[in-house]
Amino acid sequence: MTSDEKVILSQHPCFNHKVSRWFTRLHLPVATCCNIRCRYCSREYDCVNENRPGVASRPLPPRHVLKSVYNILSQDERIRVIGVAGPGEPLASNETIDALKRVHERYPHIIKCVSTNGLMLEDSIDQLESVGVKTITVTVNAVDPIIGSKIYSAVFYNNKPYQGIAGAKLLLNKQLAGIREARKRGMLVKVNTVLIPGINHHHLNQVAIAVKEAGAFIMNLVPFFPQAEFTLLPATSDGVLDGAKHELEPIIRQTKQNYQCFC
Ligand code: SF4
Ligand code: SF4
Repeated sequence: MTSDEKVILSQHPCFNHKVSRWFTRLHLPVATCCNIRCRYCSREYDCVNENRPGVASRPLPPRHVLKSVYNILSQDERIRVIGVAGPGEPLASNETIDALKRVHERYPHIIKCVSTNGLMLEDSIDQLESVGVKTITVTVNAVDPIIGSKIYSAVFYNNKPYQGIAGAKLLLNKQLAGIREARKRGMLVKVNTVLIPGINHHHLNQVAIAVKEAGAFIMNLVPFFPQAEFTLLPATSDGVLDGAKHELEPIIRQTKQNYQCFC
């Protein structure tokens, strides 16, 4: 483990639950658009159906970011990480790099973190590195394009729509290439996988093996909540989630916390 990685693990609560008692993170809701369509996503909610502390659905213009960060940091000295995770896809929006650049120039010591669907990760990696991003979360729900095609209804890349298996295959290739490239740059990668009963539940071993091989450090299983096109599917129970984590732990380290960090 490098000295940079040791510093990250001593401060980043999403990568090391042991420090979550002392340290926390702040999210900048600057990313509004998205470049894929997940069938479980209702854009009434934030990315990956979550309710992270600090993520508001009202976007924050990058020019207001520093004032807002200053105000929050002066009230909460536990903040060690500033992340962009929504409400849309961070790497589909120029605002993400703009905001993180401002933050990095003013607060170079704070860990910068981005959560992404991975489609633009490899293409954006130089910019992410230049604004001091050290940790990345990539949501990978399937490594079999047939299963992926049940989860994603469309993928938009270079102004072109890809659907069905072609879209899922493109997304998967980009996600794995992005994880490999992030690792090469010394970033720590967490993978989110939404456990969708009846869709990818029995495919999680393959996802864990593939992301571990690509260089992911830790995996976070996210419970599925029925909504959008998947309204009729059952929600993920605590028992199913815990059982899956237990099964995957020998393949790749699993997050311990089941609290609001779905990212
Ligand atoms: Fe929704 Fe996030 Fe999926 Fe985009 S990547 S469709 S915002 S869950
Ligand atoms: Fe935020 Fe996700 Fe990064 Fe944690 S891992 S700081 S929740 S973007």
